[in-house]
Amino acid sequence: MQLEAVIGLETHIELSTKSKMFCPCSTDFGAKPNSHTCPVCLALPGALPVMNKQAVEYGIKLALALGCDISPVSRFDRKQYFYPDLPKGYQISQYEYPAFIGGTVELSEGKRIHLTRIHIEEDAGKNIHGAGADNHSYVDLNRAGVPLLEMVTEPEITSPEEASEFLRKIRQIVRYLGISDGNMEEGSLRCDANISLKPNSSSTLGNKVEIKNLNSFKHVEKALRFEIKRQKELILSDQEIAQETRLFNPHESVTYSMRSKEDSFEYRYFPEPDLPLLKISEEWIAEVEKTIPELPDDKKTRFVKQYGITDYDAGVLTESAELADYYEACCKKSANSAQIAHLISTELLAITKKTGQDFSVVKPEYVARVSELMDKGSISIKIAKQLFPMMAETGDDPDSIIKKKGLMQISDSSAIEKIVDSILEVNQENVTKFRAGKTKVLGFFVGEVMKKTRGKANPKIVNQILLKKLNADNG
Ligand code: ADP
Ligand code: ZN
Ligand code: MG
Repeated sequence: MQLEAVIGLETHIELSTKSKMFCPCSTDFGAKPNSHTCPVCLALPGALPVMNKQAVEYGIKLALALGCDISPVSRFDRKQYFYPDLPKGYQISQYEYPAFIGGTVELSEGKRIHLTRIHIEEDAGKNIHGAGADNHSYVDLNRAGVPLLEMVTEPEITSPEEASEFLRKIRQIVRYLGISDGNMEEGSLRCDANISLKPNSSSTLGNKVEIKNLNSFKHVEKALRFEIKRQKELILSDQEIAQETRLFNPHESVTYSMRSKEDSFEYRYFPEPDLPLLKISEEWIAEVEKTIPELPDDKKTRFVKQYGITDYDAGVLTESAELADYYEACCKKSANSAQIAHLISTELLAITKKTGQDFSVVKPEYVARVSELMDKGSISIKIAKQLFPMMAETGDDPDSIIKKKGLMQISDSSAIEKIVDSILEVNQENVTKFRAGKTKVLGFFVGEVMKKTRGKANPKIVNQILLKKLNADNG
């Protein structure tokens, strides 16, 4: 029996509005505990919520980007449960009438994941448990009331890798839209993953398990991989999969049971009486639509067409809107857009990834200049490769580094001739081979000249001189 995975994700996106969903408190991350609180988010008696227009607007933006239907009227509901980080004893969320319905997210291979809904809600606070000798637990309510969008997918994801690709795509889109920083390590993007297995011949879904609160791409993949293995073993030994909520232990890469579906909460939803219905007019949608920037997929397609670069390079360069802008700034300064794309994706990003710097430490005009020097034949690719780490370290422009480090290309024929002579002399064996017809050894000689000149010899002249010498005395 071939078993296949069926996965649906519930993703929480923390919005980067200045203030919280229903009160004027700041949403800044990392402030002193409980410093961003007020009677509303502390749930003091008589305090009333007021809807954050910006948060709704951010929701509309995402809905437009993903092609969701926008409900003209939607409603907030109270979801009751008791937990120390939830002072009201309920969360204000949307249940029966969500603001946004449907929509799709397209993955790299063209596969489309359909969305069930996106609704607006508020975050809870955070419980912090003392470590070591400190056996107290603490409650920080700075996060209580921060606006969230919850996005629910249809059960259409079929592998752990696809699940993490989906999340990466969401992160990329919310960052392009500027509605969330999408930082998983700060909890701005987190997800609950639902997974079941079924025989691939069957269209009936199996019992699902929900893994709560995954907060890194790696954790999502590892938790799902573990579940696939666990459920497979149970099914193959004819055991029932319990419908339950599980948690992921990142230290051991395993999931463990938190609660069974039987004792799952009864939330007793009812309409929030302190808020009006949420009405989103056509005019409002049209206004928001004007603020939607070019999205990653469109930008990628345009880059391939406009700059003549590969699909791969276009994907790398449109990873973030900032990098895409950077690339376009380089292309304004020099014409060889394909070469610039390549220099950025292979040289610049490699070095800044290693050092942890932002790519912008090297100015766009410097990348353009390196490309120009290559085009003119003033430097070889070897020297270009050496320039990037130096530019990243010093922030200097390529011309002054070339001057300072003596990386100027050697184009002086007589100097190169001397070097070629010395190399031919000590490699007579290969000279003989060349003259016997094994012309491939030319590559060896070029390599030797480059080694001796530390990549500085003009490759065109080196080739010319080598061929002249090797062929001249032939015969
Ligand atoms: P619940 O009632 O437990 O909240 P929902 O039907 O609301 O379940 O679905 C929650 C998430 O679980 C959705 O993302 C959905 O796609 C996914 N899901 C539903 N059924 C299954 C299943 N059998 N296997 C995997 N995922 C599922
Ligand atoms: Zn507040
Ligand atoms: Mg549900």
